[in-house]
Amino acid sequence: MYDYIVVGLGIAGWSFIQQLDENRQNYIVFDNRSQQSTRIAGGMFNPVILKRFTPAWKAHEMLQYALLQFQKAELQYGKKYIHYIDIYRKLTGVEEQNNWMAASDKPVLSVYMKDIVYESIDGIEAPYGFGVLQGTGIVNVSQLLDDTVERLKKYQKLIETVFDYNRLEIYDHYVAYQGIKARKIVFAEGYGLKQNPFFNNLPLTGTKGEMLMIETEADIPYVIKSNVFIAPNVAKKGQYYVGATYNWNDKTNIPTPAAREHLENKLKKLLNYPYQVISQKAGIRPTVIDRRPLAGKHQVYKNLGVLNGMGTRGVILAPTMSRQLFNYLEFDMPLMREIDIRRFEGRSY
Ligand SMILES: Cc1cc2nc3c(=O)[nH]c(=O)nc-3n(C[C@H](O)[C@H](O)[C@H](O)COP(=O)(O)OP(=O)(O)OC[C@H]3O[C@@H](n4cnc5c(N)ncnc54)[C@H](O)[C@@H]3O)c2cc1C
Repeated sequence: MYDYIVVGLGIAGWSFIQQLDENRQNYIVFDNRSQQSTRIAGGMFNPVILKRFTPAWKAHEMLQYALLQFQKAELQYGKKYIHYIDIYRKLTGVEEQNNWMAASDKPVLSVYMKDIVYESIDGIEAPYGFGVLQGTGIVNVSQLLDDTVERLKKYQKLIETVFDYNRLEIYDHYVAYQGIKARKIVFAEGYGLKQNPFFNNLPLTGTKGEMLMIETEADIPYVIKSNVFIAPNVAKKGQYYVGATYNWNDKTNIPTPAAREHLENKLKKLLNYPYQVISQKAGIRPTVIDRRPLAGKHQVYKNLGVLNGMGTRGVILAPTMSRQLFNYLEFDMPLMREIDIRRFEGRSY
């Protein structure tokens, strides 16, 4: 008998199996690549909301733990996943300069928000300068998932097919699925949760995001944040992510001409340099109506857990959320009130 079945190997599922490994739990993972939010995401980590210059929810504390978990993966696989890269926020005028300076004096923000600089960067004009963020960067999550898949396959811990919810048998102290028995099952399917009859009552809204990958000879060593962002592809020099769109209606993973046009229009205003679009990708961010993650147990079947709702910040959130969920499922340690799915009990939305 396994300790756990885990459904979904995005950043949420990956972070959860890190907890299982650390706690010497025996598990098997199902993933069919029907969702791809993690695989197409830029993997940026930045604890500051750059629209308002405010700290993102508990992001400072969570980032420390997330980096620790990614560092452990670096040791495990002998590869570099964490790339510290400064973010340069293009400032739009004197008012934003003043707001930047006021915000960068505040205790948590001052850790990340540094001076305003007037550096010349290939193809990017910024008459009001850039506000510089440090301690930020990119985790190469798609490489990390590829390496994890390889390891799980080697130890026969991964089943690459759709998990069919109708075939799950639930007993008091275990679950069974096509001959596989486990003490517990954790669902981490990203937007795929919508197909899950045990948890699809949760208010996961889903926000489609599209990104372009471009090639240019402009040398941009930072993440540039303006109306769009340009971020170096840490896997290939000369390539940059350009993103991202937000669409609340379309729930497919299919790239659209409209999103490409939208991104290119903004890019052309930001980057005065020739470039070529080499690919376009789309995914659904698992966003929640109250913008907080979803963790907990099924109301009736206590051996069914859920880990979802990482929204726009999976890299920072998923490791802490996984630790919370594991400690809750195994040791009955309370979940943070804000992430516990019981906050929606008895509510209609
Ligand atoms: C364009 C874009 C850019 C982003 N940029 C960033 C960023 O820079 N930094 C950041 O932190 N976050 C970013 N995000 C958000 C981040 O990607 C998400 O928060 C995160 O990926 C969610 O991870 P997840 O594991 O919950 O879901 P997913 O990554 O969607 O993983 C779910 C997995 O479950 C599998 N699955 C689902 N149903 C089944 C089933 N029935 N059977 C088997 N397998 C199943 C899917 O195939 C998938 O592999 C971005 C998102 C988008 C779309």
